[in-house]
Amino acid sequence: MEKTFIMVKPDGVQRNLVGDIVSRFEKKGFKLAGAKLMQIPNALAEEHYGEHKEKPFFGELVEFITSGPVFAMVWEGENVIATARQMMGQTKPSEAMPGTIRGDFGLTVGKNVVHGSDSPDSAEREINLFFNQDELV
Ligand code: ATP
Ligand code: MG
Repeated sequence: MEKTFIMVKPDGVQRNLVGDIVSRFEKKGFKLAGAKLMQIPNALAEEHYGEHKEKPFFGELVEFITSGPVFAMVWEGENVIATARQMMGQTKPSEAMPGTIRGDFGLTVGKNVVHGSDSPDSAEREINLFFNQDELV
């Protein structure tokens, strides 16, 4: 079954949004396959966001994602990669529709509450970056 990597970013954890975000995926019908609260080491942050290495906001991005604990998850289900992206909403919260996670909870593009893999390749890459096989059910 298809799997994706979803992460509540430090702003979401700090604002006590973990429960609401988990609940949305549960209610949708997806199955939780792994989860942990963790502090991301610098090297992992740089690897995770490797595709943005040349972007002007890369330093800020790594600094933010390592600024406090994140809640990392693997969710499983039919079409979960694309559906989770729809449930998250647009990257810029100002463009995210009400009813989406970023539309309901986000204000700025930097602190946009949640991360989700954007393709089957990135899902596989990110799940393996953040989880060992024995941490998944
Ligand atoms: P994510 O990868 O976090 O799920 P995304 O796939 O919607 O988000 P990306 O283009 O991969 O968006 O950008 C990764 C993250 O970098 C965004 O979530 C956002 O926090 C940050 N970001 C993107 N564009 C900008 C920008 N112009 N200025 C500051 N931060 C940005
Ligand atoms: Mg992305």
